[in-house]
Amino acid sequence: MGEIVQLLEQDAINRKIDAITRVEVKVGTLSNVLPEALEMAFDAYKLQPTNRLTETAQLIIHIEQAKAVCVICGQEYEPASRIAQCPSCQFLGGRMIAGETFQLLAYEGS
Ligand SMILES: [Zn+2]
Repeated sequence: MGEIVQLLEQDAINRKIDAITRVEVKVGTLSNVLPEALEMAFDAYKLQPTNRLTETAQLIIHIEQAKAVCVICGQEYEPASRIAQCPSCQFLGGRMIAGETFQLLAYEGS
């Protein structure tokens, strides 16, 4: 979250936005980022006077379901962990194509 807040600050300064009221992020299910932890961190940042987040700023979290593609048979599937096993041919080590994202999508402010 710290990185995202820094990124926000920098961008808000560039755009002359003084008060950020809404932030949207995308979090993959295998990104090692826990949405609950993110919300707690966001709430803590909101109360700090050193950044441009308003005290009532909203955090919208979009969850991205993990997806892998099998490098042997090409099957696409939803892996439960980073070590993905193809449900079709049982090959271990599919290539992740979604779900590892932790990204700032958009924000609003004035
Ligand atoms: Zn396969």
